[in-house]
Amino acid sequence: MLRAGKGMTLDTQIRERLEYANGNVLRAVLYILTGNPVLAQMQTIELERRGGAFIEQVLSDEDTSTVKDLAEEFLVVRGADQRAVLPVDIDEDRVRKAVGFLIGRPPTAAEFRLGVRELGLESTCGLESSRPMWSRDVDLSDWRVLVIGTGFSGIGTAVRMQQLGIPYSVVDKQSRIGGTWERNQFPEARVDTTSFVYQFSFVEKYPWAQHYAPQEQVRTYLEHVADTYGVTPNIRLQTEVVESTFDADAGEWAVLLRDAEGREWRERANFIVSASGLFSTPKSPDFPGADRFGGPIIHSAQWDPDFDPTGKRVAIVGNGSTGVQILPWLAENAEHVHVFQRTPQWISPLERYKEPVAEQLQWLHDTIPLYWRWSCYSARLIRGSLGDAQEYDWAWRAQGGKVSRRNDGVRQNLTEYIASKLGHDPELQRACTPDYAPLARRLVVDNGWYDAVVRDDVSFVSTRIAALHERSIETGDGTMVDCDAIVLATGFDAEKYTLPARYRSITGGSLEDTWAKDGPRAYGGVEVPGFPNLYIMYGPNGQPRGGSLVAALELWIDHVARLIVTTVESGHRWAGISEEAFDNYNRCMDEEMSRLIWEGEAPRERNYYVNSHGRQNVNMPWRLHDYAQIMWRDPEETHVFG
Ligand code: NAP
Repeated sequence: MLRAGKGMTLDTQIRERLEYANGNVLRAVLYILTGNPVLAQMQTIELERRGGAFIEQVLSDEDTSTVKDLAEEFLVVRGADQRAVLPVDIDEDRVRKAVGFLIGRPPTAAEFRLGVRELGLESTCGLESSRPMWSRDVDLSDWRVLVIGTGFSGIGTAVRMQQLGIPYSVVDKQSRIGGTWERNQFPEARVDTTSFVYQFSFVEKYPWAQHYAPQEQVRTYLEHVADTYGVTPNIRLQTEVVESTFDADAGEWAVLLRDAEGREWRERANFIVSASGLFSTPKSPDFPGADRFGGPIIHSAQWDPDFDPTGKRVAIVGNGSTGVQILPWLAENAEHVHVFQRTPQWISPLERYKEPVAEQLQWLHDTIPLYWRWSCYSARLIRGSLGDAQEYDWAWRAQGGKVSRRNDGVRQNLTEYIASKLGHDPELQRACTPDYAPLARRLVVDNGWYDAVVRDDVSFVSTRIAALHERSIETGDGTMVDCDAIVLATGFDAEKYTLPARYRSITGGSLEDTWAKDGPRAYGGVEVPGFPNLYIMYGPNGQPRGGSLVAALELWIDHVARLIVTTVESGHRWAGISEEAFDNYNRCMDEEMSRLIWEGEAPRERNYYVNSHGRQNVNMPWRLHDYAQIMWRDPEETHVFG
């Protein structure tokens, strides 16, 4: 029941809270709820955010005000009890129009199909659920699923296995649930895509305290999901998979596991979901003389919670998303910090980065029916628009442009941002301005990095590191930089999918053998021929360009569920992607990739998106809605069964 605050009438309180609403999202929601034609007649304006990296459809101030008037009327007239009741006359056409409000034009068939899934309106639109379930009673007592990892992919898969009612077990070598959010406990670690996108679609209205949740809050969220959906009792922590071999006769995997004490044992599993993540193998440079350095050398992903920089001269190596998050804390606490930059990054400010979620916004989520879901969907679309700025525009280039209007706009905007921060020191400004296209590597969020770099107690070094000595770092020009501790924010070996666990195929070969030619490849980023019933999550080229990683991983989970359901119901023991489907997929992927900027616009050997063969190996070239169409194909068309 809504109560008026002291000195406020109910109506003024509603109005005040509505000011926190996104006008265009509110318009879409109201249109679904009321079908008011006035809402359909409004036009949106395309707003370029972060210099054109992201596009948002916004209403004029006048239309926003009209929408809020209509929302106020709706809330007051309907009364709290009736608001959540969906109108009976809602139909596909109305949903299509409302989705179009957020996209700024009528959606394509693929955009609409993914949209209604994310909006929870599949049945409203007369569509079959894209979340596979059993079509009949099946005896599952002999089947086993093994899930490796308790990050987002692992927990999300476990929830689905619980819902399918198939026996499953989850192992994780770490001592707490969380995957990358357990591993990365460095100071200032937080998610840098909004938490309203970086979350499961099936957990409704999770009360995020901040728009961009700090590491421990994200980790706690995963624990919350595991507890809420009953998967926690099936999780075995401090347990790792050492190797697995597919037993073709039995049609199942023979798995060797190990616990924290080094005890090893064998288990069998019909299906394995390797959700060990892309960022599980920290990469530490092999600096000459590292063994004679007298102080601690700490990798960001192996953070020592007892490390206290107070009174110390600390060097930090790396300015990717991690290094940029750590530096301000280090600068605040150490006696002196030396920032070692090998390559400048495009580092962008981010609205609301450290803001709490206002109580008024939480109220909107809780009170206005559909608002939370449409607002999350809108945020996913905005993030997805980043993908357009990663494509070459050949006509634009022919006229002298660098990549495309959007991409060059981002470059211009961020160049101005760097100038606004470092303009007083032209040499530093030059050293910190990249000469490659933005978005060819991951866009880094500014956590106060530039402000920290110009502090008196911070020095900036862009000469390469030649060697370490007992209390100093020697740079390429022979300069000795005194330091007591080194923080390595040097990233991960992103080519090591599934490692350290090793897999042997039907014919005894390893994944590494299969991938020897030009690095890891997988159908949909998930399946490799010869390795039936094995699914890799956040696998090769699995990352959506823009949009939401969690939305993509929900598609991977559905894909796994679809294959399990199909295999069991068809009376088979296993399903594997066919060579033909795998080759076709990869041929199309390589073709699509040639239109995109990753391989040609940033230094290849300094970009974890690009593998050691020079091939972009992290992102998928497809938009998420096109990718969904691929993942929803009937497995009978693409798989072999045994
Ligand atoms: P990264 O993006 O790979 O950056 C590694 C940094 O270390 C780069 O600056 C790199 O320089 C430097 N480096 C590596 N080897 C070096 C060497 N031998 N000498 C000098 N410098 C060296 O790694 P990351 O920052 O850990 O980020 C990895 C990914 O994790 C991100 O892209 C993101 O997907 C994820 N992440 C997410 C969040 C978040 O959501 N909030 C936060 C952190 C990380 P070069 O540029 O010259 O190679």
